[in-house]
Amino acid sequence: MKIRTQRWRPDTCDCIVELTYDLDEPDDTRTHTVTNVIRACQAHVGMNASQLNTVLFDENRRKNRLHGRAAELYPALFPLMDEPGGGRGYDFSRISWSYDATRTLRVTIQGITAPQRNAIQRAADQLFGTGKVVIS
Ligand SMILES: [Zn+2]
Repeated sequence: MKIRTQRWRPDTCDCIVELTYDLDEPDDTRTHTVTNVIRACQAHVGMNASQLNTVLFDENRRKNRLHGRAAELYPALFPLMDEPGGGRGYDFSRISWSYDATRTLRVTIQGITAPQRNAIQRAADQLFGTGKVVIS
């Protein structure tokens, strides 16, 4: 076991926490656990490390999985491009998103048709449950 700690500020809110993980675990099975709260944001004020461990990863994964699902459904809308650090990634520049006060993920996708919007909304409802993501 090589236990390491690193700071994490998710891009889904303004919390800053410390994550603990075992460097000896392989990348694909390594789990990061919130073990310390440096600063809780306004949306998550009063939550302890254990609660933030659930909430921060839920919100971050929901945002990431929504992007991934949209690219699976409509790969032509999100072309693969070279990434600055090497490798290839989807161009998600047509997607803008934010979490509102009730922590619903609000997503706007430029240049999609109404049927495409509806299909992505249905996929989001299936993945996360109704009301967790709203595509406009
Ligand atoms: Zn937060």
